[in-house]
Amino acid sequence: METLEKIINVCLRRGIIFPTAEIYGSLSGFYEFGEIGKRIKDKLIKVWKDFFVEENFVEIEGSLILPKEVLDASGHTKSFVDPITKCKKCQTIFRADNLIEEKLSIKVEGKSVEELNKIIKEKNLKCPKCGNELEDVKEFNLMFKTFVGPLAKEEAFLRPETAQNIFISFKRIYKAYRKKLPFAIYQIGYSFRNEISPRQFLIRLRFFTQAEIEMFFNPENENCPIEKYLEVEIPILTREEQRNGRNEIKWFKVKDLLNNLIKSKWQAYFLAKEFLFFTEVLKISKDRLRFRHVLEEETPFYSAGNFDLEYYFEEIGWKEIVGNAYRTDYDLSTHSKHSKEDLSIQEEKKFIPHVVEPSFGIERIILALLFENYKEREWSYFSFPPYLSPYLIAVFPLVKKDEIINKAKEVYEKLKKIFGRDVIFDFSDSIGKLYARADEIGIPFAVTVDYQSLKDDTFTIRYRDTKEQKRASIEEIIKIVENSINVDFKG
Ligand code: AMP
Repeated sequence: METLEKIINVCLRRGIIFPTAEIYGSLSGFYEFGEIGKRIKDKLIKVWKDFFVEENFVEIEGSLILPKEVLDASGHTKSFVDPITKCKKCQTIFRADNLIEEKLSIKVEGKSVEELNKIIKEKNLKCPKCGNELEDVKEFNLMFKTFVGPLAKEEAFLRPETAQNIFISFKRIYKAYRKKLPFAIYQIGYSFRNEISPRQFLIRLRFFTQAEIEMFFNPENENCPIEKYLEVEIPILTREEQRNGRNEIKWFKVKDLLNNLIKSKWQAYFLAKEFLFFTEVLKISKDRLRFRHVLEEETPFYSAGNFDLEYYFEEIGWKEIVGNAYRTDYDLSTHSKHSKEDLSIQEEKKFIPHVVEPSFGIERIILALLFENYKEREWSYFSFPPYLSPYLIAVFPLVKKDEIINKAKEVYEKLKKIFGRDVIFDFSDSIGKLYARADEIGIPFAVTVDYQSLKDDTFTIRYRDTKEQKRASIEEIIKIVENSINVDFKG
């Protein structure tokens, strides 16, 4: 069985993440997070905030539905499209670019509908399901449309990215929060994309969580504290390597990327910070990460450079987990023009700020964490760092005897006073099965209460990763657990 299948099996069996509307045959591209999955997600967001949010950051929580005007101005109603083709006989719909890449091994990123049609005709590409002819390629807009109000007259859309709320709120936030450049507005929330073929579990969803930071700055005086990251080395897949098909990853010091591959100090700043976050906080191996310098033909016309942070998913391959775009003054300018509100600011002179954006896909990062930490021995377990584990401590009575159960409850209550809802108590099974269940969802510590505990107030603490067991007092246990989560993450 492949690792992805094993991970999905654990997620289903333990109610970590499971398909939406399963009892109705489920809805493709939509997933529900059960308690354990939600805890992992909340902890990931907490460490993300602890690491990335700085003094000059302002958070917003914006509307999931946006009026059409906003998305007309941003270009989404016109350009947020994927090419599709339909089989003339069996009516199956395919994403034309993916189909060509998979069946013909031709790279078609950034190619127009006409060019894709030409390739399909020339290479005589047929429906992979029934072998019949395919219809002409068409553009399909990925936004979910809805209507606002009882007369259903006003067209609106579920937001395809969280960034637009930030641009349309820029002026209000800038004034109300009395900000000076450079400063960032960030948002963590849901985005919706009507993907043509959702697949690979959490990789391509129709509803997912983004954590986006829009850093606003003066391009003539970025005022970016890049000095602290100049010596950080990061892995880059250059455009040159992609063009020559070698795909060799090269390591660059941040100082050597500036004025060379990267046009903004703020973009370099976030690339360095992301690399430190993934390797030092999330403990992802360095050899499964790379920044892909997105080719010119794939880069949006307004961007002065995109770098995708990619993770190597075993069996699946390299996939983007964070998008980095230098959006220049495009968004504020287009919203200025369409809304007729002046979004420029007056500092030494009047200008429209530039924007660098890191955009994190939370579910893809969760899948990377599941892959990275999935381990097998007599039973499977997730070796999450303790601060990302769904619970910290499981308390078990060794045997189901009243005095032992009562003592275990006492221990549970004491630990709960310190670690709150991160402690669980269970005596529903034999101790071996309880350990297996705790390991399976990645609980790093188990505390077992036995007859000796009644005599001397010591307990067995068991470490998930090593299976080592030792006797300790409650005070010692508290210290061990506290030390495992008190990590200084400042990047
Ligand atoms: P983008 O705006 O397309 O650059 O997306 C930013 C980030 O959102 C990506 O790096 C992904 O991690 C995540 N993302 C984009 N599309 C999807 C999707 N369909 N399902 C899950 N995550 C996605």
